[in-house]
Amino acid sequence: MTLDSTAPVLAQSVQYVKGVGPARADLLAKLDIRTIGDLIFHFPRSYDDLTNVRPIENLEAGVLQTVQGEVVEIDGKELPDGRRVTSVVIADGRGKCVAGVWFSSLLIVGKVRYGQQVAFSGKPKWYRDHWQMNHPRVQVLDDEEARLEVVPVYPLTEGLRPEALREAIRGALTKGAEAVVETLPETTRIKREYPSVVQALWQVHFPEVLAQGVHARCRFIYEEFLILQVALAVRRRNVRDRMQAPKLVTTPAIDAHIRALYPFRLTADQDRAIASIVKDLASDRPMQRLLQADVGAGKTAVAVYALLVAVANKHQAIIMAPTEVLAQQHWQTLDRYLAKSRVRRTLLTGSLSAKERGQTLSAIKTGDIDLVVGTQALIQDDVEFAKLGLVVIDEQHKFGVHQRARVKKLGVDPHYLVMTATPIPRTIALAVFGDLDTSIIKQMPPGRQRVLTRWHDESQRERIYQRFREEIKKGRQGFIVCPLVEESESLDLTAATELYEILRAGSFKDCRVGLLHGRLADNEKQRVMDDFRAQKLDLLITTLVIEVGVDVPNATLMIVEHADRFGLSQLHQLRGRVTRGTVAGECYLFSGVTTEEARLRLRAISRTSDGFALAEEDARLRGLGEFFGARQHGLGDLRFGDLLHDIDLLEMARSDAIELVADDAGLRNPEHAALRRAVLARYGQSLDLAAIG
Ligand code: ADP
Ligand code: MG
Repeated sequence: MTLDSTAPVLAQSVQYVKGVGPARADLLAKLDIRTIGDLIFHFPRSYDDLTNVRPIENLEAGVLQTVQGEVVEIDGKELPDGRRVTSVVIADGRGKCVAGVWFSSLLIVGKVRYGQQVAFSGKPKWYRDHWQMNHPRVQVLDDEEARLEVVPVYPLTEGLRPEALREAIRGALTKGAEAVVETLPETTRIKREYPSVVQALWQVHFPEVLAQGVHARCRFIYEEFLILQVALAVRRRNVRDRMQAPKLVTTPAIDAHIRALYPFRLTADQDRAIASIVKDLASDRPMQRLLQADVGAGKTAVAVYALLVAVANKHQAIIMAPTEVLAQQHWQTLDRYLAKSRVRRTLLTGSLSAKERGQTLSAIKTGDIDLVVGTQALIQDDVEFAKLGLVVIDEQHKFGVHQRARVKKLGVDPHYLVMTATPIPRTIALAVFGDLDTSIIKQMPPGRQRVLTRWHDESQRERIYQRFREEIKKGRQGFIVCPLVEESESLDLTAATELYEILRAGSFKDCRVGLLHGRLADNEKQRVMDDFRAQKLDLLITTLVIEVGVDVPNATLMIVEHADRFGLSQLHQLRGRVTRGTVAGECYLFSGVTTEEARLRLRAISRTSDGFALAEEDARLRGLGEFFGARQHGLGDLRFGDLLHDIDLLEMARSDAIELVADDAGLRNPEHAALRRAVLARYGQSLDLAAIG
């Protein structure tokens, strides 16, 4: 990639640039600019467009504008406080004038003369009877060559003047721009009408008009996205071209048989997802599909359909969950659907004895088991299958580019269906799951209740407890969720345990209160959950976020403590736990709010129930890094692009990448050589790019 280019000149110290001495080099180092390459790629944050000239009579107060006129007055005087002010007045020949005012004469005296044509750029204000600009930017227009400028605005550091930085960048470009490698293939570049990399670098820093600078900058964003999308397209091709999957055909009889197992009618969204899956499974290329939907929208129901198609085709199928508790839950769901079926199934858990485990594994290996449920950890490690047709991966709300689960296989490859309960903004889905086909279920099953969500401070606590006691008396159940403090598991534990003791002895002494936290052994967790599900507990105090992911239709109440410590998506996930039944859920967020951002989050969650809208909001508020969890997404840091704002460029890059890889899967065309190197340099490690390696 252009940025990682190792051309020697780009790696040279900035001190080799004309006009950069040790002192300036130190200032630049504060901006992390050490080499000529760094300087070249220190892009402006924005531009001040000074080419947009207004007649003086149309000036607007407080907005950056440029005016032109002849210098008619240069004047200096001393203010009562001893400061000197210099004013330069320009007139437009129609009786209108603007005074530029400087509080330090050094900045202006000697730069302009009477009678010269000059332009002032600045934010005017109306002072007594004329327009005035403090410290406007001055451009002298007498010179033949002079033209108005678009001035880039750079991230600066104390002591580094913008002019000095621009001068250094000009020097760096002169020395090094030609050495920057062009990674965009000529054909692609021309199709998208982008300047060459060298031109683009000059245009980003010294645009003639605003649009030119902006367009040149887009080139770099596009380039960055293209490299990512080519990597994903290569991986996708890898799967398509090199892998053989069994054709799993859904006959009308199979379809009818499966549908008869549902105690409800599938929603239109579920049917649409199933139609895509049916088509994928019938192909001899492995399905690579992402199924996205809010918690409770009916993904598992769709997955069950796919699992049964595999089994009906005499293949094995597995469903993997991130935790034991969730695996257990999938197991119970399957049990419900399959009550009247002869599908041979097993749940692989950590609590099996060595002997049981050995027997189960050998039954799977010989093909005496059709359906396996378990955690990713257990299944990925050492399970061998006789005839594996389908893998369903429930990622819940953790997802990443390169940690996608894989299983050991014998012979052909299975089809893959990945489920995620975190609604992902479309751009992010494209970037992270760009190699997968996507199905989305937006519609909730009919009759699903919304969750009333309220944000309260401490003053409401007793009132809410009272409400909980009343509802519990009517037979409802509830959760009280304490936040995870990642640095200190023991702190969490203390917080939850203390709350448990306090509530059990106090406000909820007449209720059956349980405690669930991460330090409990798996079977202990399971026991607590079972008790809760069996309604032997009324109220569950828990520190666990994912593990609360259990279907308990009778649980309709939730309190989230320190709600400001949760992300929007997390809060949305959490309240999804109290929407399972026919009674409307209630979710109370307790927080004495800390930051403005937290306030915005809590307000958003109280107002919106659309998970996708919240996901976008969440990513916007927290920034993408946070949204994904630090570096989990495997994208590394994008340097130029912004997944939330540059969606058009991302989609362009994606379609170009798919086309490019379709024509040249191995990127062997000499025109693609530089691109290929860039893709490998950036994603060779994190993605499996054997096809081009
Ligand atoms: P998810 O996996 O997306 O969380 P599930 O498939 O587990 O959602 O479904 C959540 C609940 O809704 C389950 O109790 C399930 O039985 C029920 N359900 C799913 N699809 C429908 C439907 N089409 N109509 C009515 N209820 C449904
Ligand atoms: Mg589910």
